[in-house]
Amino acid sequence: MIQIFGPGSLWLTGLLFFTAIFGRYVLFSLGFWWLFNVSMKQQFTHRAVQNRPRKPGQDWREIGWSVITSLIFTLMAVAVILAYNSGYGLIYTDFNAYPLVWYPFSILLVLFIHETYYYWLHRWMHRPGVYKLVHKTHHDSLTTSPWTAFSFHPTESTLQAIIIPLLTFVIPLHTSAIGIILVIMTISSAINHLNTEIYPHNFNTHWLGRWLIGATHHSLHHTQFRFNYGLYFTFWDKWMNTESPDFHRLFKEKTAKSGLGVRSEE
Ligand SMILES: [Zn+2]
Ligand SMILES: [Zn+2]
Repeated sequence: MIQIFGPGSLWLTGLLFFTAIFGRYVLFSLGFWWLFNVSMKQQFTHRAVQNRPRKPGQDWREIGWSVITSLIFTLMAVAVILAYNSGYGLIYTDFNAYPLVWYPFSILLVLFIHETYYYWLHRWMHRPGVYKLVHKTHHDSLTTSPWTAFSFHPTESTLQAIIIPLLTFVIPLHTSAIGIILVIMTISSAINHLNTEIYPHNFNTHWLGRWLIGATHHSLHHTQFRFNYGLYFTFWDKWMNTESPDFHRLFKEKTAKSGLGVRSEE
């Protein structure tokens, strides 16, 4: 058993994890914001999903909630490290510990379980008694931005933060696979809250694209509330008939003038 961090460096471990978790949020949110609102502003202005201006001070409120979310994620990470160092959990560091095919499969499996957990948690958080206490903070952002990606009430952050640490006790996961999953989670959340549709024309009907959530899909959740509950993928919304009836029309509208077509119909 390799000790990931020594027992005497708990505060240092926490500080490193907080820097990595909050830094990852800042890096991807800032990166996506800069790319589509500054660097390629001209090409993407017409792809803004919501044109309603954001509330004054919204960016800083979202960043403030994201600091608390990052602290909660850090506590979970430290708990997992402590458990690992005490010999609990199924995290592994040797690539040869399991057949190589397990590595990509374990990532897909965790994403599927995370999606399923979040979809049903999210539907529960929209129940009238729960919504105000737990989920309203995230919905304060009617017009989203990449900063909305981690903007949650601490109760919601905790509910979101427990699932992947729990999975490390039942599913063998390589340390780098966990890193990949966390990066996918951040990229997906930044894209979904970007408020600029970056996917190509017809991606909503593409064999792969139809299963991926993007800015238009998730923006409709923030404006309509009762549709599009998914996290990374659309399958639960499709299976449970909770995909917004406006999604395909709006996606087509937002990508109509795009030169990035999957099939060149225009
Ligand atoms: Zn919601
Ligand atoms: Zn959201």
